[in-house]
Amino acid sequence: MFLRKTSPSPPHPLRQRRPNPKMNTLDDFASAKLAELDAQHLRRTLVESAREEAPWVFREGRRLLSFSCNDYLNLSHHPAVKAAAVEAIARYGAGSGGSRLVTGNHPLLGELETRLARLKRTEAACVFGSGYLANAGIVPTLAGAKDLILIDELAHACLFAGTQLSPAKTIIFRHNDVSQAEELLAAQRANFRRALLLTDGVFSMDGDRAPLAELAALCASYDVWLMSDDAHGLGVIGGGGGSVTAAGAPPVPLQMGTLSKAIGGYGGYLCASKQVIDLIKTRARTLVYSTGLPPASVAAAIAALDIIENDPLLVEKPLAKARAFTKALNLPEAQSPIVPVIIGAPEAALAASRQLAEAGFLVTAIRPPTVPAGTARLRFAFSAAHSDEDIARLAQTVRSIIGS
Ligand SMILES: *Cc1c(COP(=O)(O)O)cnc(C)c1O
Repeated sequence: MFLRKTSPSPPHPLRQRRPNPKMNTLDDFASAKLAELDAQHLRRTLVESAREEAPWVFREGRRLLSFSCNDYLNLSHHPAVKAAAVEAIARYGAGSGGSRLVTGNHPLLGELETRLARLKRTEAACVFGSGYLANAGIVPTLAGAKDLILIDELAHACLFAGTQLSPAKTIIFRHNDVSQAEELLAAQRANFRRALLLTDGVFSMDGDRAPLAELAALCASYDVWLMSDDAHGLGVIGGGGGSVTAAGAPPVPLQMGTLSKAIGGYGGYLCASKQVIDLIKTRARTLVYSTGLPPASVAAAIAALDIIENDPLLVEKPLAKARAFTKALNLPEAQSPIVPVIIGAPEAALAASRQLAEAGFLVTAIRPPTVPAGTARLRFAFSAAHSDEDIARLAQTVRSIIGS
């Protein structure tokens, strides 16, 4: 039966007011913001990109050789990884059904956590919905009022998001500047209860590595908890173990990362001691109040770890490819599969990216606020599937475009 209104309902009190032009400014606000961004060449738009066969991307009717995917080992399309995802869907369904603390903690998650902890040589691990969610949840769980956070100025946006969700005092130190971090700690540490130092292991837009051994020593002497973000290290440096292994650093107590780069799927994680992981699982809000990962993502990650742990030659390839590129262009030797070529102005970076696309290469321009003003760049990400000829041709094209 319908509930049918016999007479029109009286106008809602809010609608009785005369239209106020000032009330209709939401679209004006959005248009003005967009116009401002357009004027600075900083507007971003989504482009449909179909990745059917690594390292190719179909977009705008063209097939481009991609140097912009973080799928360093091309595992997103590996037959064993895809088969694991399909099998998990067939058995457990497409979604997890709830937060991990309610019914979303399907059996594959425990297996993945054991595998991640083993690879990172920690006691335990906790899998989150994404790397962003991991950082946004971990930092405020560990640092509160009366505490201090030190963070590298080029650390990833989601580590900064974590600091913004914490009432702790946050101080930014210059990129990879251990002496400045030490000066800050010497001056400030005693004024705070606990302290946390946050850095990327491999910096996402610069491709360089953090001095993790030095930072670990500094943190040990000032009683500071070190947290490294290994989104771009796992699976590609340190024999696959990531940036802490590569740095020969003593065990870093908080090692987070993502399942969405070399692992080829989706999700995030923290590796740490059992006590820390138990605390995170009961208190990190982005874990508690967000749905657990779909079983397919977890199964795919386990299958990808099998490959990473058993194929050392594959793991070495992305860095070797990046080094072939930096050598061909006389750039400083690549420290990771990420190589930036700084252009400067955003419109110039966009133009260089367009010229590369005309030559058949997909290399996205990275502009502020992702990178500091004046350092818009081309960011090259190398994968195991790039051939030596691809890289030689890319280097030649880049040279002709930027004239180096
Ligand atoms: C990509 C990235 C993240 C976020 O991981 P997602 O799983 O994509 O949310 C975190 N930190 C760094 C350094 C990254 O590059």
